[in-house]
Amino acid sequence: SMASPALLMRVVASAYSVAEKAATIVRNVMAGGDLGIVEKTGANDLQTKADRLVQMSICASLARKFPKVTIIGEEELPTGEVTEELIEDGHCEEILKKTCPAQYRGIKEEELVIWVDPLDGTKEYTEGLLDHVTVLIGIAYGGKAIAGVINQPYYNYEAGADAVLGRTIWGVLGVGAFGFQLTEAPAGKHIIVTTRSHSSTLVNDCISALNPDSVIRVGGAGNKIIQLIEGKASAYVFASPGCKKWDTCAPEAILHAVGGMITDIHGNSFQYNKEVKHMNSAGVLATLRNYDYYASRIPDTVKQSLVP
Ligand code: AMP
Ligand code: MG
Ligand code: MG
Repeated sequence: SMASPALLMRVVASAYSVAEKAATIVRNVMAGGDLGIVEKTGANDLQTKADRLVQMSICASLARKFPKVTIIGEEELPTGEVTEELIEDGHCEEILKKTCPAQYRGIKEEELVIWVDPLDGTKEYTEGLLDHVTVLIGIAYGGKAIAGVINQPYYNYEAGADAVLGRTIWGVLGVGAFGFQLTEAPAGKHIIVTTRSHSSTLVNDCISALNPDSVIRVGGAGNKIIQLIEGKASAYVFASPGCKKWDTCAPEAILHAVGGMITDIHGNSFQYNKEVKHMNSAGVLATLRNYDYYASRIPDTVKQSLVP
């Protein structure tokens, strides 16, 4: 008989269903018309009712199944009971059928840290740029991002009523990443994807120094990693603080699972143990291929401006 699935695969299988429930909440809040927008640190740092409800849903659902796992969510919310209608207890059978890599088979609950961005691209969500939005659930072990789920609730929303709305991408290091078509960016072209709502002189100077053929400005860290793995862009460059560990954990796991690379602007890898500082103070540099090309061209002046 089959051994019972490894904890890691059970967590990913549950996170998949929890992220699909989250996507339903994101769409329902928008359809309801009252976003309940709150400014956190300012007008470019927002929280909506969707951010709040989704975080409650994800954290309570995963905590109920995996009580000893550390779960860190972006939003600061009052503690208390979460209504039963926000709880998701399903899982994705297909994920449980995959073999857990040997080095992860013995992982215990208390060794996992889950980083949750309930709604990545909130600014764009409030502006109706709906396909920029993702739900991010990243899973870390030994300080490394090893698995992740990215749900894009409005994938296909401009493709007409016949198209299936929304998708879930997931990945595990050593297993691969699924739910999308891995595509290489055009050969020989340098297409940079970066922020649209958190630009600065430094962000723009860094991009100019890389002499790109074109620049795509879109919201969301999750969305920008999707641009890389689907061949729309060749590098994600963000020479600024602002991105946090919940923005990069799930995207990192998926990108690494398909052979890509993500670091800060100095080339340092990110750490995801529960004690780590949340802010990625030294920015983000990510590619599916040709990481060294971009890393070697980041100006020293930019590096000197960003202290890890
Ligand atoms: P962006 O590419 O601007 O969508 O940023 C990616 C992620 O980092 C999103 O979750 C943003 O909210 C977050 N982020 C980036 N820069 C800032 C900032 N200056 N203030 C607050 N959040 C930021
Ligand atoms: Mg975010
Ligand atoms: Mg968020």
